[in-house]
Amino acid sequence: MTNSFPYSDDNKRYHTWNYHLRHKFGEKVFKVSLNGGFTCPNIDGTKGVGGCTYCSHYGSGDFAGNPLESLPEQFEQVKQKMHQKWPEASYIGYFQAYTNTYAPLEELKQKYESILQLPKVVGLSISTRPDVLPNDVVDYLAEINQRTYLIVELGLQTIHDETGKRINRHHTYQDFLEGYEKLHQKGIPVCAHIIDGLPGESHQDMLETAQALSQLDLHCIKIHLLHVLKHTVMAEQYQNGEFPLLRLEEYVQIICDQLEVLPPELIIQRLTGDGAKEDLIGPLWSLKKFVVLNEIDKELVRRDSWQGKYYQKP
Ligand code: SF4
Repeated sequence: MTNSFPYSDDNKRYHTWNYHLRHKFGEKVFKVSLNGGFTCPNIDGTKGVGGCTYCSHYGSGDFAGNPLESLPEQFEQVKQKMHQKWPEASYIGYFQAYTNTYAPLEELKQKYESILQLPKVVGLSISTRPDVLPNDVVDYLAEINQRTYLIVELGLQTIHDETGKRINRHHTYQDFLEGYEKLHQKGIPVCAHIIDGLPGESHQDMLETAQALSQLDLHCIKIHLLHVLKHTVMAEQYQNGEFPLLRLEEYVQIICDQLEVLPPELIIQRLTGDGAKEDLIGPLWSLKKFVVLNEIDKELVRRDSWQGKYYQKP
C-alpha cells in the first residue's frame, strides 16, 4: 500500500505521537505518569481557590503515581507494568498531576533529576500552567532541554476568556501567550493542552481555539474531550442541567475540523480523553477510545481530508 500522507507509515491522516516517538527514538517509548507531590496556585488561593471546575481530586493526574511513594518508586511500578507488554522500551518521565513547576527551583531540580538519572529515561514531559513559569525555572528548563528530550505542556483549554472565567481557570489567553513566548524564545518545545466541550462553547469557539494555536510554533498539541468527573464543581453544574455534554458525532466533527486547520507537522499527542473510569459521569461513550479514534479516521476518509488541509501559515 502506498503511503499518501506525510508523518505516517500506515496512511493515518494526522501526525500521531506514536509515529513521532518511533521515528525520533527508533524504538518503543512510553510516558510514565508521575505525581511529584506538587499543588496548584489555583487551588491554594495564590491565583484562585477551588481549582478549575472540572479538576478531579487528583489534580488532572488521574493515572499518575502515588505521591506517598518516592518518584523513582512510582516510576519503577509503572515501568514494571509496561514491561510485561513491551520488554524493550525507553521512557519519558511525565510530571502530570497538579502544577509541576510550582515549587522552589531547588525542589524542582531534585525531583526532575531523580527521574532523569534513571536508566532508559530519554526525556521529560512537564505539565504546568502558563502563568507559573518564573525566569529561574525557565532557565533551568532550557538547560535540561540541551541534554534530554523535553516537552513543557501548558494548559490552555480555550482561547476564550469568558469560558476561562466560567471554568474558574484564573488565567487568560494572554497569560498563555506570554508563557508560550518565554519557553519558545529559549527553544523549549511546547505542547498546548485544550479541551473540547467546555460549558457554553460552540463548535465555532472550539475551532477558533485550534485556529489561533495553528499560528504558533508548537511542538505538539493535546486535544482532550471534556470529562465530567464525580466530586467536581462541574459535576454539580452538569447535574443541575447547566450545560450539555458533547455527543460522539459532534465530537468527531469538531476534531476533524480542528485537524484540518492545524499545521500538518504538528504532533497530535492526544485526540480523546483519559479519565478514571470509576469517576466518570460522562460522556460515557468516551470510554470506548478505540471507537472514537476509529470514527475520526472514518470521517477524515469520508471527507477526503487530513491534518493541515486548510492550514493557513501565519
Ligand atoms: S490548573 Fe490544573 S491542577 Fe490546577 S486546578 Fe486547574 S486543572 Fe487542577
